[in-house]
Amino acid sequence: MTPATQALADITARIAEAAREDKRAADAVTIIAVTKTFDAAAITPVLEAGHRQFGENRVQEAKGKWPELKARYPDLVLHLIGPLQSNKAKEAVELFDVIHSVDRPKIARAIADEMKKQGKTLQLFVQVNTGEETQKAGVAPRETKAFVAMCREELGLAIAGLMCIPPVDDEPTVHFAFLDKLAQECGLAGRSMGMSADYEDAVKFGATHVRVGSAIFGER
Ligand SMILES: *Cc1c(COP(=O)(O)O)cnc(C)c1O
Repeated sequence: MTPATQALADITARIAEAAREDKRAADAVTIIAVTKTFDAAAITPVLEAGHRQFGENRVQEAKGKWPELKARYPDLVLHLIGPLQSNKAKEAVELFDVIHSVDRPKIARAIADEMKKQGKTLQLFVQVNTGEETQKAGVAPRETKAFVAMCREELGLAIAGLMCIPPVDDEPTVHFAFLDKLAQECGLAGRSMGMSADYEDAVKFGATHVRVGSAIFGER
């Protein structure tokens, strides 16, 4: 075992326990290993250990390492967890399997158009700015329901769930509970929430996808 594979095994066990407390099966939670700033050499042991869910926050950085890894491990699932510009929609749809950051009509439309062109269906999450921070991406909480409805009805997109990144100085569980409630109101099963510092709490509040970077790969 390497430090990263050992850390991932520990995290997997903690998540199984947190899921059990929430009366869910361990495999109800997808652990996305976030690899931004780490290169293929750092990622490979985790792939060799059998993990298949990975996340990157920039399209450009992901293009530098993932095509080759995907060729070697065709069953891996790549998640885009960072903000997306519409001029990068084509590359994002080509490379990624899941996008967690759909947050405005222009991006939703660009993704819908590209999926049609490429004949590829990605799983999509709507990012919600639960802390209503001016600098942060995401739809405003009060606009979430209408935005999800627009994605479904006007663009024919199947939305899998909601995603949030709580403000750094807030108690994260308040945001996890809020996202859970919003997802329920929208009739959505997916909740992408929880990072290295708070993934166990996120699972107790219903996370279906946690995004864990530094706790696996070390400080960036
Ligand atoms: C980097 C990143 C993570 C992982 O953060 P860690 O604290 O290293 O676990 C999760 N989500 C998003 C959107 C990120 O950009």
